[in-house]
Amino acid sequence: MLRRATRLRLAPRSHLARSLPATRRALSFSQVSAAPNVPAGFALELLQNHNPDWTESQRTVRQAVADVVAKYDDEFWLECDNKKTFPHQFVKELADGGWLGICMPVEYGGSAMGISEAAVMMQTIAETGGCLAAASSIHMNIFGLEPVVKFGSKEQKDRMLPPLIRGEERACFGVTEPNSGSDTLKLQTRAVRKGDRYEITGSKMWISTAQHAHKILLLARTTPLEEVKKPNQGLSIFYTDLDRTKVEVTEIPKMGRSAIDTNMLFFDGWSIPAEDRIGEEGDGFKMILHGMNAERVLLAAESLGIGYAGLRRGAQYSIERNVFGRPIGQNQGIQHPLADSWMNLEGARLMTYQAAKLYDEGFVSGEYANAAKYLASEAAFKAVERALLSHGGVGYAKEYHVERYLREVILPRIAPISQNMILNYIAQRVLGQPKSY
Ligand SMILES: Cc1cc2nc3c(=O)[nH]c(=O)nc-3n(C[C@H](O)[C@H](O)[C@H](O)COP(=O)(O)OP(=O)(O)OC[C@H]3O[C@@H](n4cnc5c(N)ncnc54)[C@H](O)[C@@H]3O)c2cc1C
Repeated sequence: MLRRATRLRLAPRSHLARSLPATRRALSFSQVSAAPNVPAGFALELLQNHNPDWTESQRTVRQAVADVVAKYDDEFWLECDNKKTFPHQFVKELADGGWLGICMPVEYGGSAMGISEAAVMMQTIAETGGCLAAASSIHMNIFGLEPVVKFGSKEQKDRMLPPLIRGEERACFGVTEPNSGSDTLKLQTRAVRKGDRYEITGSKMWISTAQHAHKILLLARTTPLEEVKKPNQGLSIFYTDLDRTKVEVTEIPKMGRSAIDTNMLFFDGWSIPAEDRIGEEGDGFKMILHGMNAERVLLAAESLGIGYAGLRRGAQYSIERNVFGRPIGQNQGIQHPLADSWMNLEGARLMTYQAAKLYDEGFVSGEYANAAKYLASEAAFKAVERALLSHGGVGYAKEYHVERYLREVILPRIAPISQNMILNYIAQRVLGQPKSY
């Protein structure tokens, strides 16, 4: 078990190395700089830190996050899944360590690090076996308030960011609707200005963590579609209290990620303060797009975490299980698919961290972030499926964990954007094909 990190308030990038606590398993910086040769069988190590391409700060984040989260092991997450319990203590520990503000500005209590480091953090969290349940419990803190950070007033940032970073408030993300789905611009939730308030009427679907969230980042139409020149106009963003006495929140029973609730929301004349609108009225879609590339990269990293966790279990089991008088891993029908999956995961990982680097350097176009999410979620799905099949019958038993991984690893292929919509985007934006949707 890795030693628990002491309270860690991460400093901006340049001070990172000095601010991190020494850890039992930490690599020294001379080792890191020398990019050590990776030991044989390193993919069997829990949260291995040998990737030769990671920067010093990425390795340091990897180690420090591992120190906090490694004790929340597969058994813990299996129990959360079985009992459908939200991992409050896990979130609190990350908040106490300063991790929820990893990408937030220093003046509001964050660490102002990049998506390159946040992606390492999210991969690590998923890779413990916590999968998406662990990642989704804090995912919104990492990228979600990007519209507030970029477009909120000073008063709004002072009011909204610190409680989220300290873990005192939790937020959910309210975009998807039952009648519009991937066609976000057709969403039907209306926000009508009445003096210094807005009245919200409509519904949202698939809103994760709404059972526990104090706040919601809500996208609603302030000008009817018929009255705008372009469909991406007339939408506005609000970051406001999720008042359950006014909003009907109904949980949707679902396949996996059971520790994290997902919900239908109904609003009927729900009144919220105008001061909770972010930026100019009608500019909401532009603002929501801002965080989306970052979110795709983080989802890619979370997918990778599940993929490597599955692969680790599959490879370990294949060494230990003897059938026909020899380890099943001695059969190429078992070892080759696992080897193929490691290469595919690594290919997706290189794309993911390249996309993160580009994002941090100010590259705004979405092709690499989208490609990373696509490749990582496909590679992870395949890796976990193969890991489960390598287990034979016990792969289907909950106590071997890979069935839970498989139920969770399907989700990044659907949300926050489906694979088809990414293919549409790449075909149109990169290959110049006619828009198909
Ligand atoms: C567990 C879970 C948690 C979620 N959490 C949140 C959340 O917190 N907040 C939030 O706002 N949303 C959330 N979502 C919603 C998620 O972002 C959407 O499910 C996703 O964007 C897909 O939209 P949809 O489900 O309406 O599918 P649809 O848009 O109905 O699409 C259905 C299928 O048709 C395909 N399709 C549709 N149009 C085209 C086209 N033009 N070309 C090719 N294929 C097409 C899609 O690729 C998909 O395969 C969550 C979803 C799930 C399942």
